[in-house]
Amino acid sequence: MEMQNKKSILKIDHLSVNYGYVRALVDESIEVKQDEIVTLIGSNGAGKTTTLMAVSGLVKKAAGTIIYKSQDITSMPPDKLVKLGIAHVPEGRKIFPQLSVYENLIAGSLGNPKMSKQDVKEQMEYVYQLFPRLKERYRQAGGSLSGGEQQMLAIGRGLMMKPDLIMLDEPSMGLAPKIVEGIFELILKIRDTGKTVLLIEQNASMALSIADRGYVLETGHIRMTGTGQELLTNDDVKKTYLGQ
Ligand code: ATP
Repeated sequence: MEMQNKKSILKIDHLSVNYGYVRALVDESIEVKQDEIVTLIGSNGAGKTTTLMAVSGLVKKAAGTIIYKSQDITSMPPDKLVKLGIAHVPEGRKIFPQLSVYENLIAGSLGNPKMSKQDVKEQMEYVYQLFPRLKERYRQAGGSLSGGEQQMLAIGRGLMMKPDLIMLDEPSMGLAPKIVEGIFELILKIRDTGKTVLLIEQNASMALSIADRGYVLETGHIRMTGTGQELLTNDDVKKTYLGQ
């Protein structure tokens, strides 16, 4: 019931994306409301990354609209979307390996030229509070961090843009189970600081267990949607995505 009253922050409406002859997304509709964690699960090639790229203005849309906080952003370029408060943390933790943790975070804030020096300072404090590990290692080269720490840095860099919506592409990829748990706990913490999260994951059980709602994507089509709990206990989801 509570969900009904929440404001819509992102609305993907009947979106289609093609790569040449490949129909990557077909008539996809997804809604994300304020302060929610929404997860998009699906196998390899289902269209998860393409969805985030479409929201970030990185791929051409064949049909459909994307509305962010009542504004039509369907054809907006990426730099404008950052200024509106949308951060995208891509798959594979693309941090700058030669730069220090501190410099990587500063680089994140440069994505949003609307930020004042004071804003940058505040965001840095916020990120260090969420990830004390990064504060301890602020002078260390990004490339010398552990896999989990690099993921924290990639997320921290996204948060430096002071986003309202943060989109995370497979944050658990390639990490040991114990580290993955820590990352998912952090995602909950980020939401609790007033951010809205759109999370893409192959680790469906972890993602659904922290998500308010989820969507199941299959070869570019939304097949199912429900609360995280509903999907976790759904027989088809269990069989196909949870290996149960
Ligand atoms: P994964 O979990 O493997 O990253 P995904 O769900 O994120 O998969 P996408 O990367 O969005 O899937 O890909 C959706 C479909 O579009 C796939 O069939 C993929 O092969 C195709 N595709 C993605 N990028 C391109 C591209 N640049 N050119 C052609 N086809 C592409």
